[in-house]
Order: sequence, then structure tokens, then C-alpha cells
Amino acid sequence: MKRLFGTNGIRFILGEDLNVDDIVRIGMAVGTFFKGGRCLLGRDIRKTGEIVAQAITSGLMATGCNVYDVGLITTPALQFTVKAQGFDFGVMITASHNPPEYNGIKVIDHDGVEIERSKEERIEDIYFHEKFALSNWRNVGRHYYCNNEGIIEEYIKAVIRHIDADVVKRKKFTVVIDPANSVGILTTPRLAKILNCRVLTINGNLDGDFPGREPEPRPDNLEGLATTVVSSGADFGVAHDGDGDRAIFIDEKGNVHWGDRSGALIVEYYLREHPGETVVTPVSSSVVIEEVARRHGGRVVYTKVGSIHVSRKMLELKAPLGVEENGGVFFGPHHPVRDGTMTTALILNILAKEEEPLSKLMARLPKYYQMKLRVPCPNELKENVLKVLREATKDMKVDHTDGVKIWYDRRSWVLIRPSGTEPIFRIYAEADDKSKLNNIVNKAKSMLEDAIDEVTKKDRFNTLRTE
Ligand code: MG
Repeated sequence: MKRLFGTNGIRFILGEDLNVDDIVRIGMAVGTFFKGGRCLLGRDIRKTGEIVAQAITSGLMATGCNVYDVGLITTPALQFTVKAQGFDFGVMITASHNPPEYNGIKVIDHDGVEIERSKEERIEDIYFHEKFALSNWRNVGRHYYCNNEGIIEEYIKAVIRHIDADVVKRKKFTVVIDPANSVGILTTPRLAKILNCRVLTINGNLDGDFPGREPEPRPDNLEGLATTVVSSGADFGVAHDGDGDRAIFIDEKGNVHWGDRSGALIVEYYLREHPGETVVTPVSSSVVIEEVARRHGGRVVYTKVGSIHVSRKMLELKAPLGVEENGGVFFGPHHPVRDGTMTTALILNILAKEEEPLSKLMARLPKYYQMKLRVPCPNELKENVLKVLREATKDMKVDHTDGVKIWYDRRSWVLIRPSGTEPIFRIYAEADDKSKLNNIVNKAKSMLEDAIDEVTKKDRFNTLRTE
């Protein structure tokens, strides 16, 4: 069957991949699935956010849902509120880290976590076969505007409960926050101010053109943040993605630390106090997480890439921590979803208690080298490219949890996997030595390009034959 949902909800360019009437029908499909009920609706700053929110609202109301529209909010604050205030479900309009022209729809279950795959499939079945349960005119849903202020205040109070706020407050940290001109500006600066921090922001005005940088925080677009951290003498900098669930940290010397290293620091600190606990992480994460967890008798459980897999596995195993290499930290005691503001609170807490600068704490973690690449590949070829890759690597030590992960030894690996949201393959690689890493990446890249070539040629040949 055709799919609507990708790795993290539905992603599209309005007017190209989906039109407004498709969005109305998605609303009707989601509303039919939830059989009416109370829905908390929110969105990030994207230019199409309002029109998508209105279209999906119409669809939801047509099936009898009451829609509580909170407007601009981060994904984690919406997820937390769905659970905390007993909504039947939530809908977040966001394309997270994708470029500005994209938008997306994340459907949140009553437990505040994205719905599981089987439920996505049922919604797709309703959508593609138009099995909508529409209400008559008497029973259509109601639409309520909610003030996001109160919701954000409650959310921040809940975050702060998990750290030693008095110790953090005494430190009077200086923090530079880069929310990418989107909704992260509504939560993290507020949290930091309550915690007595001196707060500087860059890209701190709400703007759906994302004039400061693309919504995905990457080392190559965080130079401005790094410079500001150093020149202002800040203790650290933090960059969010478009919906505020990811946090990438920059130490006081201006070094960008990727998510699995800041995640490993949080794992180290948490497991020191709670030894033997379980950490959930996707196969794309650094082995540094496993090394750190093992030091404290903990274990690591690997999942497919995508926050929903981490969240659902955490719930299944009652695991307190999840980590993603892209800057997603899932802190179960608060809520088992990735949350950039909660992650910032945890880092502030660690800095306050350890009394050492972030660069020093990071330097104590085992050292690995990593590289990531994007290789363009049309969506319709991805499955066949994977088949070719599986065949080409069948005599190697491989893991098929998600894409193809090749282990060269215990400390070096490469993962080749199709993106669920963009027409690309992603290559992730890690090694304990730089030249080994280059070698691995070059091999993986040419293997992938050969596979794409082979499949493209076959595809062209088949097209010619059927014409
Ligand atoms: Mg995100």
C-alpha cells in the first residue's frame, strides 16, 4: 500500500506533494481513527503552518473532534501537555529539521508519544480508501483557541522539577540560545532565565523564512553561534531544530559536540546515580554511548532510526533514557520523547554539579571520529538500492535493523540507510582513527553510488521495455 507516514510523521511541500484538500482528508482520516475526541493542535513557525492547521482542523471537526488550538508551540511541550492534561490525541504541524519549504504532521497518541506504526497504517487505510466517518451537521466538532502561555509555563515547571534548580541558579551561567527563528524561542530562553542564567539569543525572532540558518542544526551552520559563545564568554551554546525537540551543544571554547556525545554525557551522569539502567538508541548512534553505559553496568538497546522507535522501546522496557545522534535526548522521568529544552536543563544541571567547563567534561568521553554524508537517490529507487547493498555485503558482519550497518571491528562501522523524509541516502560512519574513517566512508560512498547506478540503469531499461 502507498504510504503517508515517513520516519517522523507525514512530510510534504504544500502544493507539490500534498494540497490543502489532501490535508483536510488527512484530518478526516485521523479524526475517524480517534472516533471524535479532544485533540490538542499546535504548530511551528513554518509559512504553511497556519493553512495546514486550518485544513486539518476542518477535517478533524468534520468527524466530530473538538480541536483545542494552541498555535505556536514546540513538539515536546505539546506532547507533554497531551498526556498531562488528558487529551485523547494531539496533532503537531511541523517538518522538524527539514528545509523551510517543507511542512509535516505528527500525530500524538493519548500517552503523549507519536502513534505507533500499526496505527499509522490504519490511518493510511482510512485515508487511501476514504473510509471516513463523517458527523452530521448537529455533531460536528468545536474549535477552541487556547493560550500557549499557560501551557508553556506548566511545561517548564515540569522540566525544572527534574533538576536541582537551586544549585543551577547559584552558578549564574551565561547561555547562548539559537532556536533557528522557530518555536524553541518560546521555551528554552524562558527556562534559562528562570534558572538565573544570563541569556543571549541569535536567530531569536520568529520567522518562517528561517533567515538565520536552515532548521537542521549542523556543525556547518552553527559557526555564528560558536563565535557568539566565545566572544560573549558564555558557558555554552545550544541550537535547536525547527520544532525544538533537538539540542546541539557548543562548549565554551566554540567546539560543536554532536548529539551522541552530549547524550553520552547525560547517560554517564544519570547512570552514575542509577547504575544498571537501560539506554535506548538507534543504530546510527556512536559506540561511545555503549561504552559509557557499560562503565556503569548499564545496557544499550538499539532500534531503527526515528524518534518514535526510541520512545516506544523506552515505554516497552521502562527505560529512563534515550539518545539520538542528531541531538535528541529522551528523559523518561519527565516524558519519553526527545526534548531540546529538557536536554538543556540536564546539561545545566550537570555543569552546576560537576563544577567544570563543558569542554573538559566532553574531553573525558572516549574519543571517536565520525562522518556523515548525504547521497541523492530518488525515493522510488531506494528499496531496490537496499537490495543491491544487502547482496553486496552478505559476506560481511552486517546489521539490518535499519538500512545496512557494516561493522569492521568493535570500534568502527558504517551505516547506509535511506532517509524517511528526503530523497537521499544517509551515510553515517565512525572509527577510532581518522584515516580508517576516511577509508570506510570512501568505500561506503562508492558502494552506494554503484548500487544507485545499477538500479537506475535497470529502471530505465524496464521503462523502455514497457513503453
Ligand atoms: Mg525536530
